[in-house]
Amino acid sequence: MVAGESGLGKSTLVNSLFLTDLYKDRKLLNAEERITQTVEITKHTVDIEEKGVKLKLTIVDTPGFGDAVNNTECWKSVADYIDQQFEQYFRDESGLNRKNIQDNRVHCCLYFISPFGHGLRPLDVEFMKALHEKVNIVPVLAKADTLTPNEVKKKKIKIREEIEQYGIKIYQFPDCDSDEDEEFKQQDLELKESIPFAVIGSNTVVEAKGKRVRGRLYPWGIVEVENSAHCDFVKLRNMLVRSHMQDLKDVTRETHYENYRAQCIQSMTR
Ligand code: GDP
Ligand code: MG
Repeated sequence: MVAGESGLGKSTLVNSLFLTDLYKDRKLLNAEERITQTVEITKHTVDIEEKGVKLKLTIVDTPGFGDAVNNTECWKSVADYIDQQFEQYFRDESGLNRKNIQDNRVHCCLYFISPFGHGLRPLDVEFMKALHEKVNIVPVLAKADTLTPNEVKKKKIKIREEIEQYGIKIYQFPDCDSDEDEEFKQQDLELKESIPFAVIGSNTVVEAKGKRVRGRLYPWGIVEVENSAHCDFVKLRNMLVRSHMQDLKDVTRETHYENYRAQCIQSMTR
């Protein structure tokens, strides 16, 4: 799931992430035009293949907040959506056909933080705190192409400090075992220090050094989405669909869903 303020590039990023045009049903000329403002929660399913393993992935795009005059409880519809998926699962689990449940629970929420603010905004804090007991939150720094490398670095540190300071419980990468090799530990550390992942989205293919790549063309140069010197896009995608997919599911099942279930049963017996 993607969430956050309107206009930060959520729809564009999910489209770039899975290299598919999620909005292809809309009858317009190119992806750029097809992605219009997201006005309701929408679900797309994509089939991806990772190292020969076929995966069916569901992407939930949410309308960004910030457009309304009054943004109090702007997180409500997203929270309700997550709860509804838990509720459905809970019902299916108590039903007859509980061997073949379709799992629509939200396993991860990419939360978009504006690159233009000085760290987190009050709404970001409110939003993440309203969701952190329900879903694995992975914060991302949106539109990283608008910042210099040094600004990205500083902003990441500031945001990590604020997350800590406000008691926001984001998704924690599991600690690696002490017997893992050095290279693995190094990667793990790098991943932890990437938070919030600096991302850049684009739906256009441009030509860079003779290669056709997904990127953004500026008068002064090309920003490549999949170039790790330009942003953390590749790192984020690998984390989501390779290295940490199972852990995201495990935490959802063992922590978030268990919380929901316990509350449900409590309220039934009251
Ligand atoms: P959403 O409201 O968060 O879903 O944002 P959209 O994906 O609709 O994008 C809003 C605008 O930002 C569009 O004009 C996009 O082309 C532009 N945009 C999307 N991603 C990026 C990015 O990484 N960098 C920059 N500079 N612009 C972006
Ligand atoms: Mg959108």
